[in-house]
Amino acid sequence: MKPAPGGLLASHGLGGQMSGCVRGTRGLKSGCPRSLPGVDCLSTSVESAGSSGTPEDRPGPVQNHWQSVRDHSRVFGEFTYVYPVVSRRSRGLSIGVNLNPDKACNFDCVYCEVDRKTPPATRVLDLLKARAELCRLVDGALAGELARDPKFAETGDLTRHIRDIAFSGDGEPTMVHNFPECVRMVADVRRSRRLDDAKIVLITDAAGLDKASVKEGLALMDANHGEVWAKLDAGTEGYYRAVNRTSVSFQRVLANLLSTARERPIIIQTLFLRMNGERMSPGELEAYCGRLRAIMDGGGRIKEVHAYTIARPTPEAWATRLTPGELEETAAGVRARTGLAVSCFP
Ligand code: SF4
Repeated sequence: MKPAPGGLLASHGLGGQMSGCVRGTRGLKSGCPRSLPGVDCLSTSVESAGSSGTPEDRPGPVQNHWQSVRDHSRVFGEFTYVYPVVSRRSRGLSIGVNLNPDKACNFDCVYCEVDRKTPPATRVLDLLKARAELCRLVDGALAGELARDPKFAETGDLTRHIRDIAFSGDGEPTMVHNFPECVRMVADVRRSRRLDDAKIVLITDAAGLDKASVKEGLALMDANHGEVWAKLDAGTEGYYRAVNRTSVSFQRVLANLLSTARERPIIIQTLFLRMNGERMSPGELEAYCGRLRAIMDGGGRIKEVHAYTIARPTPEAWATRLTPGELEETAAGVRARTGLAVSCFP
């Protein structure tokens, strides 16, 4: 892929960017939350959480109304495997690495925005090509070329600083057979570009965290400023099955969260929604908080909870978003019951 005149990225009329696993769209991994449109900016929610945090954890100046924050497309220019996102959760520029161009996932979340009716452009994960694309996108961002793309007009210098490189695409990253090699590739690029303060983030549904290859990849991430953002949407088996619609047992997910959180602090990502007009019941919320407490009581460390809601219409019309006020109310309940910091992404 050759840089086009006048700028690596902008010249393609590149637009678009991310979502899927809580980061998808008919295009990106959305059910998997990354940057979600809403009304409030992150800083309000974090302050209300009473979370002081380390400097790196304090909210950045990412505004929810920015086009680059609201646009979740995972298609950017001619890239197949990588895409840039200005993310509230990342507090700045996140480079997404889509390990699932085949759109494979072991969940079928009612809120997933990955378009699985459209055949994927490719089903092959070509790591050499992914590495070349990642190098090019990183270099373009650092050189200020991304900042000149019309899509990022509002974000200015934010796009010159890479907050993280995140495994998050059109499916579940831990389903690939060569996860350690994927981590190694990203770690090599991160090191070669001296992105010392950039995290390597895994956004996952947690179902595959017990696989030996994934554990090996997580250990590599640990050595390279890694962080796990893991999904937990329910407190009971019944609600889990209703929301995530998977054959993976709830106990396996819970056990994976615990064992992973015992090895390193993790972030829990939870999508709160209405199904057929009904919010999560008080009993379900209590059970959900109980799962979080069980992780902590079992020696697991939860750095923070990311609470978000549906960003745009989903394939299931009966799955709808919470209002910012409802989400904040829910988050307050989680804080009160668990003592955890909860950031809202309405
Ligand atoms: S876990 Fe899979 S089905 Fe659920 S939102 Fe993420 S990509 Fe979609």
